[in-house]
Amino acid sequence: MSVLDLFESMEYGPAPETAEPALQWLAQHQPFDLFINNRRVKPASGQYLETINPATGKVLARVAAGNGADVDAAVAAARRAFPGWSKTPGHVRARYLYAIARHIQKHARLLAVLETLDNGKPIRETRDIDIPLVARHFYYHAGWAQLMESELAGYEPLGVVGQIIPWNFPLLMLAWKVAPALAMGNTVVLKPARYTPLTAMKFAEIVEEVGLPPGVVNIVTGEAGQVGEALVRHPDVNKIAFTGSTEVGRAIRRATAGSGKRLSLELGGKSPFVVFDDADLDSVVEGVVDAIWFNQGQVCCAGSRLLVQESIAERLVAKVRARMEKLRVGDPLDKAIDIGAIVSESQLGEIRRLVERGVEEGAQLWQPSTACPREGYFFPPTLFTNVAPAMTIAQVEIFGPVLVTMTFRTPEEAVTLANNTRYGLAASIWSENINLALDVAARLQAGTVWINATNLFDAASGFGGYRESGFGREGGKEGLYEYVRPRWEGASGRASRRRGLAEAPASGESKAHSGNGHAEHASNGVALAGSEVFADLAGRIPSIDRTPKLFIGGKQVRPDSGYSLPVRDPQGMIIGQVGAGNRKDIRNAVEAAHAARAWSGASPHQRAQVLFYVAENLAAREQEFALRLVQQTGRPYADAAAEVQAAIARLFSYAAWCDKFEGSIHRPPLRGMVLAVREPVGVIGIACPDEFPLLGFLSLVAPALAMGNTLVVIPSPQAPLSATDCYQVFETSDLPAGAVNIVTGEREPLSQVLAEHEDVEAVWYFGSAEGSKRVELAAASNMKRTWVNYGHPRDWLDPVQGEGEEFLREATQVKNIWVPYGE
Ligand code: NDP
Repeated sequence: MSVLDLFESMEYGPAPETAEPALQWLAQHQPFDLFINNRRVKPASGQYLETINPATGKVLARVAAGNGADVDAAVAAARRAFPGWSKTPGHVRARYLYAIARHIQKHARLLAVLETLDNGKPIRETRDIDIPLVARHFYYHAGWAQLMESELAGYEPLGVVGQIIPWNFPLLMLAWKVAPALAMGNTVVLKPARYTPLTAMKFAEIVEEVGLPPGVVNIVTGEAGQVGEALVRHPDVNKIAFTGSTEVGRAIRRATAGSGKRLSLELGGKSPFVVFDDADLDSVVEGVVDAIWFNQGQVCCAGSRLLVQESIAERLVAKVRARMEKLRVGDPLDKAIDIGAIVSESQLGEIRRLVERGVEEGAQLWQPSTACPREGYFFPPTLFTNVAPAMTIAQVEIFGPVLVTMTFRTPEEAVTLANNTRYGLAASIWSENINLALDVAARLQAGTVWINATNLFDAASGFGGYRESGFGREGGKEGLYEYVRPRWEGASGRASRRRGLAEAPASGESKAHSGNGHAEHASNGVALAGSEVFADLAGRIPSIDRTPKLFIGGKQVRPDSGYSLPVRDPQGMIIGQVGAGNRKDIRNAVEAAHAARAWSGASPHQRAQVLFYVAENLAAREQEFALRLVQQTGRPYADAAAEVQAAIARLFSYAAWCDKFEGSIHRPPLRGMVLAVREPVGVIGIACPDEFPLLGFLSLVAPALAMGNTLVVIPSPQAPLSATDCYQVFETSDLPAGAVNIVTGEREPLSQVLAEHEDVEAVWYFGSAEGSKRVELAAASNMKRTWVNYGHPRDWLDPVQGEGEEFLREATQVKNIWVPYGE
């Protein structure tokens, strides 16, 4: 064949990468033991599992089958290493992370080949995408280790972190988890996926090479039921970071509920790839290839739903089919192939099952005429047309090279169709009209949006989901907060209380939420003495006999139950009645909060104006609010007045933050930028603490409002009158009807309804340890975000504990919008 012939036909031969060095390395090292305390440790079971090359179906290596006893040993090693590592200066940790990055680069080729052998993904991808991103992640986080002291002042590491990673990007997911954890001073126990443990074994060698102190990184291989579950349930693990399926994520949410373990979940997706009629269709076709055939479509953010404007659908589908005919499926070690092997036989079976389901449900299947290898686990690129939005293949994550196509007519329809999923991980928008693209980007429910691009990743840009795609971010500054906590929250911090307030009760001893005694109104360990002062003032306080109703949709409404609850002073005297809210009231309040979502579209300046106005109107009634606090809590008037002043100051703080807690612009290594935009979470349900009835209430309401959320609030059941007195303040402050809805009643049943409600996006709960657990458990149903206090009260007067970025972060979620530019 002449060169000219080749040029004409564009046929090319194989360009195989040799597997020899990697196979030699495997032969020298296997069977692989566990990696604990920088030593190779035989598994307690004495058993080993085989890992398979999915391109051939043949065994590659034997790897230790860890179990609960091994997890215990690894966690103990990590715990022993924690005090030393967490106190290691940031600069020194930075040097280690830098060294790891360098070593990744030194062993890049071996790592790339190992990954391809173990996972089946094309060598082009492991060599050019996975491994360079792994190195970049460690470099980037070396920087954060260096800067932690100044940039995260007031924060400390969490402790021992359990990390569970999937098989689709084995080393990259390891890097996404290990790098920020170590940078922030945590120690780690990592469980690689059953199918793909090999690059983690090589990583263990790198840990030794760079001389990381023993116990800082521990790796326990084995099965989910043995290792994963033991790690999740281990009492001495402070946080679980998980990437994988939504089902397992939900199970982990339930298993950790109430344990106080921090949790971040990066779960599945069914990401839309939206093409408008003015898009550059040739670029779109290449985008589709990267969106759904990258890593055989086994990508959580794969653009698996192609949504095309009707007028160009036929033309685009024809182009996509023509391109599919040219895709090469074959030996992943061949540098000239596009699609490698599916990770396992069972994953292949699952893809086949869902594809058959698509055909049964009436969708039109199309596959190119090119052949797939017979040996190993391969599946051809697949396109479905004639797809209805409710079909299984349009809703369920297939996690394979399968694309479903649907059409829309208007941008409005495109947004509705794109958001018609329980997931919210990523989206891709194709249009030459940047106004349209940015407008649609803002309206999509997704943690990452790519404009005229897809599947771009960078350590500086946080990655993570909205809705059932999980919560928490990996990468970016926002990702660091997954691995730290405010210092005051730590054991030492908790003891240091300001203003001579009494010690907080130890965990589990809190009386704050027992709701069983007015004499014990010293709810949060904060001494609420002053009954003499109360006695002095009692004569001056008008007796209250009105019954505040509920506040829903800007109106005061009677509770559905028709019942009222008494509010008592510390002496047990009834000082008022409030409505006994129930499930139906919460439902109405959630509806009202949704109807008020225009609040999220108000400009930050407008929201600031409203919060300033609330502060102004509260200040005008300062004395009345102070007296109400005295009446409900029996605290001295001066104390109560100080609380009102603090509440006014807090409102000012969040009015100030409205237009200052913005996003950032990242400059990833491409010509373009990433707009990291902070968006409101949506409808937030808030159960307020008993301590500081006014300040606790406004300290939660103000940041949530400032960031554009709408709210359903359960005030302190012990002292709800400070919140119900706010109705009139809100009504006179231009706060739109429904932005804040207040349902008085018992905290536990009402917050349970909120946590179970499918249309509530987040629940903040400040009550008992048991209540916290119940909220976390119930929230697993739609994977809503939760922020609970596990029964630990805060000193709301202290600005370190009672306000600031922690609140603003909880009130927002970051959307990263990638905007490449240039002709
Ligand atoms: P899983 O969610 O089951 O596995 C992910 C990781 O979690 C693995 O390390 C797994 O261990 C571990 N694990 C599984 N169950 C538990 C448990 N109960 N407690 C603790 N750890 C556990 O994903 P699969 O590999 O089974 O893939 C199934 C589907 O999940 C895919 O088809 C795809 O739809 C989705 N998925 C999504 C990913 C994403 O990035 N969002 C990544 C991978 C899968 P082990 O490997 O030993 O089973």
